[in-house]
Amino acid sequence: MKRRVGGLETEYGLVCVRADGSRALEPEAAARELFRPVVAMGRSSNVFLRNAARLYLDVGSHPEYATAECDDWWELVAQDRAGDRIFDDLAQQANRRLAEDGQDARIHLLKNNVDSAGNAFGSHENYLVDRRGEFTRLPRYLLPFLVTRQIVTGAGGVVRPAPGTEGEAQFVFSRRSDHMWEAVSSATTRTRPIINTRDEPHGDPTRFRRLHVIVGDSTMSEVSTRLRFATTDLVLRAIESGRALPEAGLHDDIAAIRAVARDLTGTAALPLAGGGTTTALEIQQRWLDHVTDLVDDEERDVLETWQRALDAVRTGDRSWASTHLDWAIKERLFTQVAERRGVGLDDPAIERLELAYHDIDPAQGVFHALQRRGLAPQVLPEERVEAARTIAPATTRAHLRGRFVSAAQQHGVDHVADWTTLRLTRPGAMPVQVLDPFTTELPAVDALLEEIRTTGTGAAQDPPPFA
Ligand code: ATP
Ligand code: MG
Ligand code: MG
Repeated sequence: MKRRVGGLETEYGLVCVRADGSRALEPEAAARELFRPVVAMGRSSNVFLRNAARLYLDVGSHPEYATAECDDWWELVAQDRAGDRIFDDLAQQANRRLAEDGQDARIHLLKNNVDSAGNAFGSHENYLVDRRGEFTRLPRYLLPFLVTRQIVTGAGGVVRPAPGTEGEAQFVFSRRSDHMWEAVSSATTRTRPIINTRDEPHGDPTRFRRLHVIVGDSTMSEVSTRLRFATTDLVLRAIESGRALPEAGLHDDIAAIRAVARDLTGTAALPLAGGGTTTALEIQQRWLDHVTDLVDDEERDVLETWQRALDAVRTGDRSWASTHLDWAIKERLFTQVAERRGVGLDDPAIERLELAYHDIDPAQGVFHALQRRGLAPQVLPEERVEAARTIAPATTRAHLRGRFVSAAQQHGVDHVADWTTLRLTRPGAMPVQVLDPFTTELPAVDALLEEIRTTGTGAAQDPPPFA
């Protein structure tokens, strides 16, 4: 598939603390406060927005934003960052209400994957793949790539020895690696696979499948997020091409993913299923070399950035990586702070810094502060991210959903949407299905828009206060 549709689901960590840092509200209560304007608008804590994204509260009180379908990975980054802003707005509003109410309580939303109690939550990547493309063949080639790509796109972090056990705190490429328990499975929570095989294509099931990759870290850096999708897309393209592929089936994916996380040189020996060993750097370099003929001119910079990232691991020269890739930005920051304070990586100050790195509030978040100082990348222009809050991707069916939701909101018409269906909630209304994710025009949707204009209240409604 040359043009591929993808989407990113981000679950946010949610804490509500007093000025002294102690817990003020339980996560359930804080989530209820956060979602108050959403429920007021949609009578539900699960809504689709004008930018065609889904905003909802799942079990476990992790607010989630799922981007609309994108077929361009910079657009996906823009849509994802728009989600941060939408949730940040909701958090600011909630914090104002709490303050007015005289409560010593402040909500923080963290775009990370592990909370202070050690629970993991997700950043799920979705890729459209062809149903005919032998889905069962995919994991064999994709898994070694996914197990090792953390040396490029991991969020970095510190793992600490369990209380009462020996060992030292250690910087790793990805903390999520310790929370993966299976390579491939249809469950998302119980066993936490790298690839989730639940067959929910959100499209015509005879033509499409949706590949659900749940091993990724939430990334703050636009460069890291873009690389995550762009490199995985290229590897999928190679697998789909039907040609001979780099063969690197690992003996034990889960043992390997943990070993790779802990080895900052990228050279630890990983036993192969067929005997012998390989390394994370070798696997990544082989894939990079293998896909070079599959990219067009516009994508060439993906290869360059990917190569720079691998070189940073290979040579130990972090001069580029430490201002571009999340793991390396964090590695430098933690090292500097630990040295300045004369403490080890196990110090609570480092733990607090790690959480603050992922705070999506520009006024509080350490990543945002680094960005302002030029120490973290900002690739997309400000206007593009701002526009993505209300404008859906134009080149997928998200465009239709975006027009539908915008019109229904503007004219005050009750409606529901999901990834494939648009429907007005009046009795007898017929749902409109959009089963091809590449569709951007459909007469049935035009008819729906016309109906909205003629049946609406006439008076233009204010847009919801957060998006
Ligand atoms: P849940 O997270 O509730 O278990 P889910 O995995 O279906 O359910 P959603 O949170 O609804 O996930 O998000 C679905 C994601 O998949 C969105 O980011 C969306 O853009 C993307 N998506 C929708 N249709 C397709 C498709 N056909 N192929 C690839 N991605 C898709
Ligand atoms: Mg989801
Ligand atoms: Mg999901």
